[in-house]
Amino acid sequence: MAVYECARDGSKSRTKLNAMYWRWYRGDESLGFVEQLCDTCVRETIAPIVQRMAFAVGHDDWSHCHSCGMEIDEWDRTKLYLSAYLPKSDPERFQFDLCDTCGVTLTGLIRSCGRPLPNRQTQSQSTTDGASLTWSQLGIEPHPRDDAA
Ligand SMILES: [Zn+2]
Ligand SMILES: [Zn+2]
Repeated sequence: MAVYECARDGSKSRTKLNAMYWRWYRGDESLGFVEQLCDTCVRETIAPIVQRMAFAVGHDDWSHCHSCGMEIDEWDRTKLYLSAYLPKSDPERFQFDLCDTCGVTLTGLIRSCGRPLPNRQTQSQSTTDGASLTWSQLGIEPHPRDDAA
């Protein structure tokens, strides 16, 4: 029987973990990583950012970092995109605005814990490419992106 291991705290689980697909941009370059996270890590590390983001959007506030709450400039922010696949739920997509410090910290953490994803451009190629393989290894069928051009 398969055992799943959390990418951040290494805890083992017999049930499927939460798949976090991250993406951000550095210049023209697109960076993507996937992390398999246990419920505790999602609750302690992802949920607070989602909550702050939801609160900010609800208050039409675009000037504070979604992680630490510090004020950020319009032109000086890291945008971080998350597609969250929780077992038995529909995937949810989020966009986070982060200050420089949180951007560096968070993307660094994701890079060190997660597995790199192939570039988005390769997804429309053959069905045997790395993207589809990554998805199927996770037991997830490729999901059409609603933000695809
Ligand atoms: Zn964990
Ligand atoms: Zn911050």
